[in-house]
Amino acid sequence: MGMGKEYRTYWKEEIETAPWETIEALQLRELKEEVAFAYEHSPYYRRSFDAAGVKPSDLKTLKDLARFPFINKHTERETQGVGSFLGELAAVPEEDVIFLSTSSGSTGVPTMSPFTKADFDDFIDVVSRMFWQIGMRPSDRYLHALNFSLYIGGPDVLGAQNLGALSIWGGTLPSDRLLFILENYKPGIIYTSPSYAWSLGEKARKKGIDPKELSVRKILTGGEPGASIGATRKTIEELWGADLYDFYGLSDIFGPCAAMCEKKDGLHMAEDHILVETINPETGEVIPNGELGELVFTTLRKKARPMIRFRSGDIGRFVTEPCACGRTEGRIYITGRRDDMFIVSAVNVFPSDVEAVVHDVEGITNEYRIRVYDEDYTSKYAVEVEKEDDSPATDREIAERVQNALKARIGVKPADVIVYAEGNLDTRSEHKAKRLIDERKK
Ligand SMILES: [Zn+2]
Repeated sequence: MGMGKEYRTYWKEEIETAPWETIEALQLRELKEEVAFAYEHSPYYRRSFDAAGVKPSDLKTLKDLARFPFINKHTERETQGVGSFLGELAAVPEEDVIFLSTSSGSTGVPTMSPFTKADFDDFIDVVSRMFWQIGMRPSDRYLHALNFSLYIGGPDVLGAQNLGALSIWGGTLPSDRLLFILENYKPGIIYTSPSYAWSLGEKARKKGIDPKELSVRKILTGGEPGASIGATRKTIEELWGADLYDFYGLSDIFGPCAAMCEKKDGLHMAEDHILVETINPETGEVIPNGELGELVFTTLRKKARPMIRFRSGDIGRFVTEPCACGRTEGRIYITGRRDDMFIVSAVNVFPSDVEAVVHDVEGITNEYRIRVYDEDYTSKYAVEVEKEDDSPATDREIAERVQNALKARIGVKPADVIVYAEGNLDTRSEHKAKRLIDERKK
């Protein structure tokens, strides 16, 4: 293990610590090329830029990008398979494509994301950079416990191999076999989803294994929020006696677009590959960095399917102040999905607010479910929780605690809190927990 070997601090120092002006100049150069390439080779962009009356030559500064039209998931869906197998957003012939991933389809028809050889090499290099920034080194043993089938997180294991770590391709093995690997091969770093990190730790405990006694010292999580929610992160970190780091990936762009560093304060964007804008989700107007809004991403190098002004649907902030780790790459803080946000009594509520409360209230497990519904022409929400077996509190006391904590954090009480006995709320999942039920009329 390391033998005191000194490794460099950054994976790509000239990018990760570059002054802002250097990054901006590089972004502008790459952006001009990317937009021109898209206009020239993608039927969709040619049509939509023409319709909006903009040309690649209109891009004189980064701010000029605001004149170009947005795309979103819907654009991907309606153009895929149109005209050719790769669809109208694609900008290369199929023979140049070496890899495809698809989205999970959890919010509709799965969308397909193609990569050229150069795109894929860039993707893996960015993963290596992000793994390096959470402290992974060639001396580490790494367990990749993410799905390999079509999922964009699958190839991330190559990022670990590329940086020299010993990589174990666990995938979605049953938890018994993963626990066997943890006990016998003793990986120091594991990558999985936050809900699975929690349930795997619980399963270990039920088998009489204390997760803290295992070798895991760093846990990376992606695929759902959690690691960025302070209370959730603390709970999982305490269960495992390990540090938890959040990864933010979009199959539409790359795998990880951003990841925490060892300071765990926001997620560093790979700014040489992705340009970030923040917009008002209602009006589409660009708002200053640092303000809360919808994050919009533009790929700067991807050729198989350039993504120009992709509305992510994620609400968050993009902060450009340098980080304590020495990196100058801007950081994103995600608050939640625009579609998951609901408004109760004129207050914006995110499921992450409820999660933070659930993890703080005494006497309940970490399981919860939110139900949002319309009643009397207004949106209401109810929260379901589980009382811990050994809690002396009554169900009524538990419900009051949850109501008061939610009122304190969000400003509006839930219409109802339903308390189940421990183990009776069927939200536990191997990979992605379904925690929000939206019954509002659309
Ligand atoms: Zn940092």
